[in-house]
Amino acid sequence: MSKQPVNRALFDDVMVPNYNPQQMVPVRGRGSRVWDQEDNEYIDFAGGIAVNALGHVHPELVATLKEQADKLWHLSNTFTNEPALRLANLLKETTFADKIFFCNSGAEANEAAFKLARKYAYDNFGPEKHEIIAFYQGFHGRTLFTVSVGGQAKYREGFEPAPGGITHVPFNDLEALKAVISDKTCAVVMEPIQGEGGVIPADPEFAKSVRELCDQHNALLVFDEIQTGVGRTGHLYAYMGLGVTPDILTSAKALGGGFPIGAMLTTDRIAPSFGFGTHGSTYGGNPLACAVAEKAVELINTPEVLGQVTGKRAVFVEELDKINAKHNIFTEVRGDGLLIGAELTEQWHGQGAKFLAAAREEGLMILVAGPNVLRMAPSLIIPDEDIRDGMALLDKAISKVLSADKAA
Ligand SMILES: *Cc1c(COP(=O)(O)O)cnc(C)c1O
Repeated sequence: MSKQPVNRALFDDVMVPNYNPQQMVPVRGRGSRVWDQEDNEYIDFAGGIAVNALGHVHPELVATLKEQADKLWHLSNTFTNEPALRLANLLKETTFADKIFFCNSGAEANEAAFKLARKYAYDNFGPEKHEIIAFYQGFHGRTLFTVSVGGQAKYREGFEPAPGGITHVPFNDLEALKAVISDKTCAVVMEPIQGEGGVIPADPEFAKSVRELCDQHNALLVFDEIQTGVGRTGHLYAYMGLGVTPDILTSAKALGGGFPIGAMLTTDRIAPSFGFGTHGSTYGGNPLACAVAEKAVELINTPEVLGQVTGKRAVFVEELDKINAKHNIFTEVRGDGLLIGAELTEQWHGQGAKFLAAAREEGLMILVAGPNVLRMAPSLIIPDEDIRDGMALLDKAISKVLSADKAA
């Protein structure tokens, strides 16, 4: 076997090309800072796509993981385990939910949610009531069912035939929803803030009306809180800030603080439709993931962490406004809490990736949400100093992109 150097070039040799990662390989992190193989330092505004809500290698998460690693890793669902029971109980006590299902990712949580919505309607109203309504630009994961409920055709193309009985309407458009919802609708699925779709918040009045329409038609309201959940908006879940309670809620990403876990939360009324043997996952609810997630939720669901999200957002927005005053590059800064989207001006539409790469070259990790929006989803406990340092790097990166454009 040849000894290949382990670097970015090896990625292209040995990985399926479905990703195109940045041209450096991170090797360690701490808080909101990350270092690559050459020991270059980066400030992390990406947070592993809204996952590392407590930054990198948070000492209490590390201690919890190590403690559990010395006890018990895996059992399968033939047996339950203490961390899973404690985490489910914690989620029950802190949310609308009565019953929890654990899995390993966001897409799996949504897969469970959509299957449960179908099954609940089937059990209570019959097979005709199977239609799912979702929104254009919505994102719910990459399994075949979740790309089908997702509102971006490009994620579905080439994988058809897709599951049927799914209709899409424009987000925040109540009349469009009214036109398609019926007694055949089993569920309406939405993100409180469309994340991948461009950081587009649901209008609170719209969300309330969706809830009413669902009630009128005996349809379940499913909130995909995989990106907005676990403190991101300054509430444990965004529905709490919206004042609209779903029937099913999906959580993943920040739930494990970087350890893979997903959860579907629902009520005593709906849960019985997932009776014994109807659904499952080998790893779902495994002790390692649940122990870490319990600690992550405990640490995040405190006044100290949730209470400073709005203040940290203000620092981000202030700094982005300064950058915009200088470069006139954003049409709008939007989102809620520490899910921040800055839409590029029309001239730069389609070129988000260029800014992402330029930021990385300056030592800053950011995200895009589609081709037109720069997105940030940092640690909820990122120090203000790191925010300001990172914004100085973003300013430099944008200056370079703009001057390269002028020179061309
Ligand atoms: C990331 C995301 C998903 C998919 O989660 P995976 O863990 O990648 O499967 C689903 N819905 C939303 C809103 C997301 O942001």
